[in-house]
Amino acid sequence: MINLLDLDKQQMRDLFTDSPYRGSQLFAWVFGKAVPGLDAMTSLPKSLRAELSRGYTISYPEHVKVQASSDGTEKHAWRLHDGLIIESVLMPEKSHWSLCISSQAGCAMGCAFCYTATMGFHRNLETSEIVSQVLSLLRLYPDRQIRNVVFMGMGEPLLNYGNVVKAIRILTDPDGPHFSKRRITVSTCGIVPSLESICRETEAALAVSLNSPVNAVRERLMPVTRKYPLAELLNALKSCRLPNRRRITVEYVLVRGINDSVRDARELVRILHGLKVKVNLIPFNPWPGCDLEAPDPEAVSSFEEVLKDSPYAVMVRKEKGRDILAACGQLAGSAQARGEKARPPHGGAHD
Ligand code: SAH
Repeated sequence: MINLLDLDKQQMRDLFTDSPYRGSQLFAWVFGKAVPGLDAMTSLPKSLRAELSRGYTISYPEHVKVQASSDGTEKHAWRLHDGLIIESVLMPEKSHWSLCISSQAGCAMGCAFCYTATMGFHRNLETSEIVSQVLSLLRLYPDRQIRNVVFMGMGEPLLNYGNVVKAIRILTDPDGPHFSKRRITVSTCGIVPSLESICRETEAALAVSLNSPVNAVRERLMPVTRKYPLAELLNALKSCRLPNRRRITVEYVLVRGINDSVRDARELVRILHGLKVKVNLIPFNPWPGCDLEAPDPEAVSSFEEVLKDSPYAVMVRKEKGRDILAACGQLAGSAQARGEKARPPHGGAHD
């Protein structure tokens, strides 16, 4: 059986060669109305639904758990057809909600500060498994305005390129959930060969996890730096064309004693020269078994001050859902579900 949640509009249209309009109708039922099954598609003739049901189905991952933080953030867990667990985080903002979704089960990047890294890499998510994190929550909470979607959950989105691009196309389609392109953000550790193309192909907002202006330090925090050195990453960012006046977000996780000095801040300003970026500082969120530490609040302020004196807008990300391990870099659902212990952090950034 083919899961209709894996098909984009063109693929649905191709199912009905003599009447592509039927394909658009099907797309609107599946992604716009997010109906649970073919029976609900009342504008399609019964005979057609019966025919479709022989080869196609609508299949959502099972919603297994929701945990609520004292700050209103919710962590939702989903069990995939092969038993793997992934997580999404729903965050209340002043007038709407933001949703952080996963693109892979686990992650292969091995960043020293990230809990997801401890569960290792299992597999890429299918398009259906990406999109259904959004559709399920839209359906569950029709009264909440979920307006932003960020690929900042488990996994490296640019290493699941095809499915992520397809998911973005579906999520922004006027006949689907119709998210604004600028309200979908892809966050990456810096997979250089895919940076320019993701901007061009999706027009989604781009966030890049930089985390140190010093190549050797970044290498210890983020092993991917060995493959794509900082200089190459910065060069690639220069070639990303964003729609007018939009900026790339530089994410910077502040870790005590490793990358949180005023000197680091000045060096960061220096290397960003010539780029259209804004900087998002994220104080490190601790997790079980990690001996990296959160920065002193004074270090965060001093770092921020240096950036305020620079041409770049700066913002300190308020951590959300820390008490339920739902903050940045704290997702590791499968490891917990399997009862495995998190392996000790590697990368040696702290030794
Ligand atoms: N792989 C993608 C998306 C997932 S990580 C990426 O690297 O961007 C999303 C963001 O959370 C990244 O900016 C990352 O640097 C940050 N992050 C990871 N672990 C963290 C932690 N323990 N505390 C704070 N931020 C963390």
